[in-house]
Amino acid sequence: MGKSYKSVPVALVTGAAKGIGRGIACRLAADGFDVAVNDLEANSDELDDVTQQIRQCSRRSVAITADVSESEAVEKMVRCVVDKLGQLNIMVANAGVTQVATLLDLTPEEWDHMMAINARGVFLCYQAAARQMVQQDTGGKIIGAASIAAYRSSPWLGHYAASKWAIRGLTQAAAMEWANYGITVNAYCPGIVDTAMWDLIDAKISEVEGKRKGEVIKNRSEQIALGRVSIPEDVAGLVSYLASRDSDYMTGQSIIIDGGIWFS
Ligand code: NAD
Repeated sequence: MGKSYKSVPVALVTGAAKGIGRGIACRLAADGFDVAVNDLEANSDELDDVTQQIRQCSRRSVAITADVSESEAVEKMVRCVVDKLGQLNIMVANAGVTQVATLLDLTPEEWDHMMAINARGVFLCYQAAARQMVQQDTGGKIIGAASIAAYRSSPWLGHYAASKWAIRGLTQAAAMEWANYGITVNAYCPGIVDTAMWDLIDAKISEVEGKRKGEVIKNRSEQIALGRVSIPEDVAGLVSYLASRDSDYMTGQSIIIDGGIWFS
């Protein structure tokens, strides 16, 4: 068993205004955690809506707007969780972006932007959470968003895939460094989840390939063994396990949950 938490454990989910992050935040509230949620300022209305949903589960919640790629903002976000909810036990570094672009066209600025949010943002969240957990001496669970793209890249998503491979490497090292503090570190690797992110990928690839909107996602879903694309709740079920005591003996893993696209 890991170390014990003081009172009701507290989770923080980044990029929680919509999509997978929202699904995770609501699932963790249903599991009995108090849940702080984060997203960009531009999505604060949707974020407030998520806090309402969490409170309907009789759990405490706080909405914190911050850009996870900014070091000071991430430190402030973690301090705010501790001030408002008393501690931090589970960090879900979920926020991420994508972009469809060929490697021949990609600009250095676009590469940097992708890495700033998907790789540096996750690193900053892991680090700030671990520092807090070490100070609390409670151990904890740190969980990051990777992707099946962290195992197998694809055309037009080269920089996205590179940013997700970074999460596997980071997760392995963090698991090794922080095991002595009772902190486990794992990542989830979804396949095709029906969110705004996949709408964007579908629209752009359809345009490039001269296909109708929705055709790319339909074609890809035919390659899924379980016969359908994923919904955020599928991923939230895995994160629920990674956040629970049942996963105390698992660390450093990047787990694929894709309905059967890529077999590790
Ligand atoms: P989404 O675009 O629907 O939601 C992402 C959320 O993150 C948005 O609310 C957005 O505002 C927020 N965000 C973006 N940049 C941010 C920043 N700098 N600071 C704080 N918040 C920020 O995406 P999603 O599909 O829900 O994806 C969630 C995570 O899962 C991402 O890391 C993504 O790469 C990963 N993922 C998604 C899929 C998929 O098929 N949708 C597959 C594999 C992995």
